[in-house]
Amino acid sequence: MTQTKIITHWINGALDTGKIERTSEVFNPATGQVSANVALANVATVDKAVNVATEAFNSWRHSSLTKRTQVLFAFRELVLQNKEKIAALITAEHGKVLSDASGEVTRGLEVVEFACGIPHLLKGGFSEEVSTGVDVYSIRQPLGPIAIISPFNFPAMVPMWFFPIAIACGNTVVLKPSEKDPSAAMFLAELWKEAGLPDGVFNVVHGDKESVDALLTHPGIKSVSFVGSTPIAKYVYETGTKHGKRVQALGGAKNHMVVLPDSDLELAADAAINAGFGSAGERCMAISAIVAVEPIASALVARIHSRMASIKTGDGAKGSDMGPLVTKVHRDKVASYIEAGEKAGATLVEDGRKVKVDGEGFFLGPTLFDNVTPEMSIYKEEIFGPVLSILRVNTYDEALALVNSHPYGNGTAIFTNDGGAARRFQNEVEVGMVGINVPIPVPMAYFSFGGWKNSLFGDTHAHGTEGVHFFTRGKVVTSRWLDPSHGGINLGFPQNS
Ligand code: NAD
Repeated sequence: MTQTKIITHWINGALDTGKIERTSEVFNPATGQVSANVALANVATVDKAVNVATEAFNSWRHSSLTKRTQVLFAFRELVLQNKEKIAALITAEHGKVLSDASGEVTRGLEVVEFACGIPHLLKGGFSEEVSTGVDVYSIRQPLGPIAIISPFNFPAMVPMWFFPIAIACGNTVVLKPSEKDPSAAMFLAELWKEAGLPDGVFNVVHGDKESVDALLTHPGIKSVSFVGSTPIAKYVYETGTKHGKRVQALGGAKNHMVVLPDSDLELAADAAINAGFGSAGERCMAISAIVAVEPIASALVARIHSRMASIKTGDGAKGSDMGPLVTKVHRDKVASYIEAGEKAGATLVEDGRKVKVDGEGFFLGPTLFDNVTPEMSIYKEEIFGPVLSILRVNTYDEALALVNSHPYGNGTAIFTNDGGAARRFQNEVEVGMVGINVPIPVPMAYFSFGGWKNSLFGDTHAHGTEGVHFFTRGKVVTSRWLDPSHGGINLGFPQNS
């Protein structure tokens, strides 16, 4: 009998050898088989990791900007060289297709590249002679050990939204990745070591609520960057801030794509397919509600439906277009929404439950609902699966009101050929990230990523200059140096009479 692999924590630059009390199963969602058991950290293990990070902070914070940049450049090279290996690890535990997994690593790398410019990003301001002989300058300093708690759907990219910048700013890190797909984080930890990052600067503890609570209440942790579902984001924000920590907690989403009657319907249909079914809809920027402004709804539905026939659902490592959902529990939950939509009276144009893939994988085919109305659960709630809903409205104002009245505000898109209409939408819509003829408007690394309303708790978005701000504290120094002519040790300057 072969023994199932155990994935344990990474503390102080090595695999942790401490006693493992609890574990959780990790699956290959394409086969439904258990591929490993991951250790779940208890309070003592979290404490050990935070203490190691505290010790490492004392020296890492004093490492020069040149040294930090060299490590970041080396890490960038290693991630680039190992991109396909990281993608394979992601596909094996998350299920998304390899090209998608590789794209995820690319987006994470962009943040590493942004962080390579840290000497420029950390430059402060200087005002000379604010009063006679008095100068004022500002500097930004690291916080200390920081925690990152990440979701299953981007096991490499989401942690990489935060840790390159945190480390570049001089902080040390305890990452708690999702227990559903922990291997990518472990491999990134090895790459950091190979890049020359001192032991203890980057640590990984695996776990569930127990480890998250231990991080949220640990006095050594100075900030928490969380990404996950809205109820947990709210809990993390409230608990972390109550314990005196700086917290940014990014939550769930229900992203709308508004299609105006003048839009290019072929472009809009292609966009709906990619943004609705890419990564099996398990993206916080996935489009899940399409608001079709009449009279184009039927034409749009027909175009989307005809394209759906060519989506091949299957093992993400074997050339399919759409992989499985992450777990059986999640697959069944998404399938239950299809049942709920039917019961509520929405028109089921395409039923993903009919798609059969050989084996025990957690598959569900792409699903399309038409005539969805705002009170239906398939519209109100985040499904996080390959289920697209079409809502029909008669005017732009009705479309805007729908988007703005939804409690989530992560991303949105408008499809139109009218620049004035697009400009009005970008101004009026209450959502953090807006696409104009772009369905998934994920900001580049040098801008910041974050939603509004129930999609973000805290006021700082991820990466970009907001990331640098989040991982540093400002200090302003007012200094007076008397001119040598005022006396003191005679340095040879002419003295005041
Ligand atoms: P999740 O909320 O279940 O888990 C996120 C993290 O919280 C994991 O590390 C998990 O171990 C931990 N956790 C789970 N339950 C907990 C509890 N009761 N107490 C403390 N910690 C707990 O989210 P998920 O299912 O892993 O990820 C999908 C969700 O993440 C979706 O809602 C998606 O929209 C959201 N998401 C949002 C963004 C964004 O940028 N806003 C990005 C990616 C994912």
